[in-house]
Amino acid sequence: MDRAGAPDDTGCTILHVDMDAFYASVELRDRPDLADQPVIVGHTGGRGVVLSANYLARGFGVRSAMPVGRAARLCPRAVFIAPRHDLYAAVSREVMAIFRAITPAVEPLSLDEAFLDVSGALRRLGPPAAIGAQIRRQVSEQLAITCSVGVAPTKFVAKLASVHCKPDGLLVVPADGVLEFLHPLPVAALWGVGERTAAVLARLGLRTVADLAHAPVAALEPELGRAAAAHLSALAWGRDERAVVPRAREKSVGAEETFGTDIGDQEAIRRELLRLAGRTARSLRSSGLAARTITVKLRRSDFSTITRSRTLAEPTDVARTIYAVACDLHSSSGLRPGERLRLVGVRATGLTPAAGLGTQLRLGERPDAWRAAEGAMDKIAGRFGTGAVAPASLVDPAGPGAAAG
Ligand SMILES: [Mg+2]
Repeated sequence: MDRAGAPDDTGCTILHVDMDAFYASVELRDRPDLADQPVIVGHTGGRGVVLSANYLARGFGVRSAMPVGRAARLCPRAVFIAPRHDLYAAVSREVMAIFRAITPAVEPLSLDEAFLDVSGALRRLGPPAAIGAQIRRQVSEQLAITCSVGVAPTKFVAKLASVHCKPDGLLVVPADGVLEFLHPLPVAALWGVGERTAAVLARLGLRTVADLAHAPVAALEPELGRAAAAHLSALAWGRDERAVVPRAREKSVGAEETFGTDIGDQEAIRRELLRLAGRTARSLRSSGLAARTITVKLRRSDFSTITRSRTLAEPTDVARTIYAVACDLHSSSGLRPGERLRLVGVRATGLTPAAGLGTQLRLGERPDAWRAAEGAMDKIAGRFGTGAVAPASLVDPAGPGAAAG
């Protein structure tokens, strides 16, 4: 996109990323035949409610949390699909992994949305809007679903921005455009304004965010209480001090790669495992974590998937160790030689804080040395981008088994 014509994203370091119609979109990957039909995910019968509806179904007025009976009356042609929660959780982990490869400052709000503070990634990845575009591209290419990204100086404006550009969009609200964006919205758009608060505000004649902004806080206090009055007034002026609070909702860290064309060559697969082990170790170290269990995921051309795990004697955040285990798991996975893969993944679980780990590792000299070396490379990568550190620098001539002990 022409940067000259793009909105100014200076200081817009908060991203809110939200998958579009998440469950329905995940189901549609397996049912391309339904792409042109209204699709609703939810248990039919009884007291089932709509968990997710694609945009065709929403066109009929179908909404999340609506009883399925009502949804069926609104949209008789809709195809109902029973939910597969394990699948959504697995895809969610992949979504969060994409986010965490961008920055460790990821605050998940649910399975399919999160805040990201990208201020630490600007040097490496470019301005916030470019990072948002990169996330959208990766989600689409790797997971075959779409998402929407709000880019703003604060959390709540970023969240409103992603709502505004749904589905499959990206919206930058420039720092000097926040009030222009915010003020025409209904008060209910503000975070924390539910039906009851909205009713109170309506009684005071306050319908838009601009109305609320211009109301004296003293006039709001008797109705809302001091804290809420001050908070809502601040929001109405675009002020929101809340920081992105990194949380590991899923207690795992990892990376995976979907290939442009499926690969069967063992060396190529090992090279990929090396790269993914490096990425996994880097995200561990950047979160100050170490992992007790390493898992590899190997997905064949026909989408059937093998996962193999091993729990280590000592937790690690060292790429060489992770790589050695991953290679071992790969060679003992039962894949036929030359069998083609469309995706390879490495995942670390059983996470513990890495603090204090150095003392344990000092007992074995080599891992400590590697740990120091890899830590130094993190610093270089942080300054010049990960491309500055060739993954080949992790390869030991002694071979992948050397670091396993
Ligand atoms: Mg969503």
